[in-house]
Amino acid sequence: MMDSVARSGFTAKSYRTRGIVLRTHKLGEADRIITLLSPEFGIVRAVAKGVRRTSSKMGATLEPFMEVDAQIVAGRSLHTIIQAQLRHPYGQALVADYSAYTAGAAMLETAERLTDADAESIAPQYRLLHGALAALARGGHEPGTVLDSYLLRALATAGWAPSFTHCVRCGAVGPHQAINVPLGGVVCHDCRPAGSMSPPPATVALLAALLDGEWATIDAADGATRAQAAAVVANYLQWHLERAVKSLKLVERR
Ligand SMILES: [Zn+2]
Repeated sequence: MMDSVARSGFTAKSYRTRGIVLRTHKLGEADRIITLLSPEFGIVRAVAKGVRRTSSKMGATLEPFMEVDAQIVAGRSLHTIIQAQLRHPYGQALVADYSAYTAGAAMLETAERLTDADAESIAPQYRLLHGALAALARGGHEPGTVLDSYLLRALATAGWAPSFTHCVRCGAVGPHQAINVPLGGVVCHDCRPAGSMSPPPATVALLAALLDGEWATIDAADGATRAQAAAVVANYLQWHLERAVKSLKLVERR
């Protein structure tokens, strides 16, 4: 979208947006390229000049997980961030906790992949990511479960809502024990194709709770059940994104 703004010769070359910093890359001696998710413009890649100098105030603001207000000048090929103010310093809370940090990194990578592919759902994806990072930063729940709940809801927002209650083929009301990832959730005894998984009933119940955000059920699940649910979620995510989310492998489960 920003490309079309730049091409159309839009008179005001500078724009303001809220955004969550997804990634940063070094550029030259002192600069960085910042990848931001904006609720209005989607993925914005822009240069932040001089931010790797210790004197740069903008440098500490433009770090992954931070929610910022940015003033950006649209250039012909590259945009430049000329000002950035902190809205929510989620990065500060997350760097202090390795489990939360790795869970957050997997969220950022997923958010970039999903919003790059589907411009329609950018604003709801932004709200979802923002809520999940805030929950991680508050630290009330095990980070892996906050991540898994986010992943299922982000996939649902992208148009790939799984079902862990009704049979995805015939709609029969569950509980059902078999899960078929390509079909998108649980299948009843009659519809069950070969190659479906049969996790324990508690795992299916946890998956339904993760999708609905039923935290009393999620927090009560034991470690083995959480790990089984996490494997199903990872499988479902990879099926739809076609490539694995690399940072998911680094998430510490406890
Ligand atoms: Zn069925």
